[in-house]
Amino acid sequence: MPIIGCIADDFTGGTDLANNLVKSGFRTVQTIGVPDTLPEDVDAIVIALKSRSIAAETAIAQSLAALDWLEGQGFEKFYFKYCSTFDSTPQGNIGPVAEALMHALGETQTVFCPAFPATGRTVYQGHLFVGDTLLNESGMQSHPLNPMTDANLVRWLAHQSEARTGLLPAEVIEAGEQAATDHLQAMNADGCPLVVTDTLSDAQLTTIARASRHLRLVTGGSGLALGLGALYEPPASAPADLPKAHGGALILAGSASQRTREQIAHAREHMPAQAVDPLSLAKDFEHTIERILAWAAPRLGAPLLIHSDTRPEIVEQAQHELGVTAAGELVERALAALAERLVARDIARLIIAGGETSGTIVNTLGIHSLRIGGEIDPGVPWTFADSNHGPLHLALKSGNFGAPDMFTRAWDLIND
Ligand code: ADP
Repeated sequence: MPIIGCIADDFTGGTDLANNLVKSGFRTVQTIGVPDTLPEDVDAIVIALKSRSIAAETAIAQSLAALDWLEGQGFEKFYFKYCSTFDSTPQGNIGPVAEALMHALGETQTVFCPAFPATGRTVYQGHLFVGDTLLNESGMQSHPLNPMTDANLVRWLAHQSEARTGLLPAEVIEAGEQAATDHLQAMNADGCPLVVTDTLSDAQLTTIARASRHLRLVTGGSGLALGLGALYEPPASAPADLPKAHGGALILAGSASQRTREQIAHAREHMPAQAVDPLSLAKDFEHTIERILAWAAPRLGAPLLIHSDTRPEIVEQAQHELGVTAAGELVERALAALAERLVARDIARLIIAGGETSGTIVNTLGIHSLRIGGEIDPGVPWTFADSNHGPLHLALKSGNFGAPDMFTRAWDLIND
């Protein structure tokens, strides 16, 4: 029987979660949207949606449709996955989607556990840290779509919901599974359905997973999945042995996140790179694409980098002149057009940086499911997929994930 049915609010997050489920021993498949049929021999499935930054009502409708399908397939535990930096606005979509899923399952409480200590995301006193820095000082305060201007998740979640929000504190988690379960149940009895969990270590992730075993729905980043292995003892799985890669290598980066900026700066010293400027796209989309393709054509023999120009003054100007959503969509559409044309040509290994960016590109390439392979860096596995243009090695990287040298180091893991 299938065990864990997951709904991820973006595609890189879905891959990150699938990667951790595999590490926990679950035989896992990631699908892009609700699949037609349940693949054979899977313990966990991750349905990746692109619902992070759309209208809350649409995100709710898509998530409920995914839940309905998962329930119909007999899954017993449900997991709503969002970013470990809690990417959302005061309107949602994390709170509204979680509440809708909770009510659809007839549940009265769920937990919010974004932490993933291995990637530096911890939560203490309800405040989310990226490394040693509060979320709202980590660069996330200037995210183009979901600026995180408050690190206090209990407060942030309260903006998104009419229901009460509360905290499962680190001290209680440290006291063990029973103490944490008792605390959750006392909060439930007291009418507090939405509970943010502190998390300081991977060991605490396991305690949280165990303490919330009575909840049919849990929500969080991918870290909590590491704790679920201890709960279900799945039949041990290994990352798929992906075929060796042949063909050109390309990085498409649409993320403006701090870590992606560092990766771009490092890669620019080692490979040819081109920046895409949203205002020239707005002025003449086709001409800008053609110019970049002409630049890429003679260079396809070695890894290439094409990235959005994310200097703060450029982002600000583009958003001011075009609007936040339109500017973001324009950049995504441009990178997707480049992906389509270059994969049709020779590219067979593709790294995409950015959750929204990955969503648009993967949809454009007609990809429906991903096999999870070996990990490049925590949260970023190589995957293998069928695209409109044939088989493709693909790494979908959330903006803030991966070491600074990831763009130069990743290829060795799949090359002949
Ligand atoms: P992350 O994983 O870092 O959140 P995303 O791809 O999810 O990255 O989000 C970044 C968003 O910012 C995308 O919609 C992208 O198109 C948009 N974007 C990137 N560069 C610019 C820019 N120069 N101006 C405006 N928006 C931009």
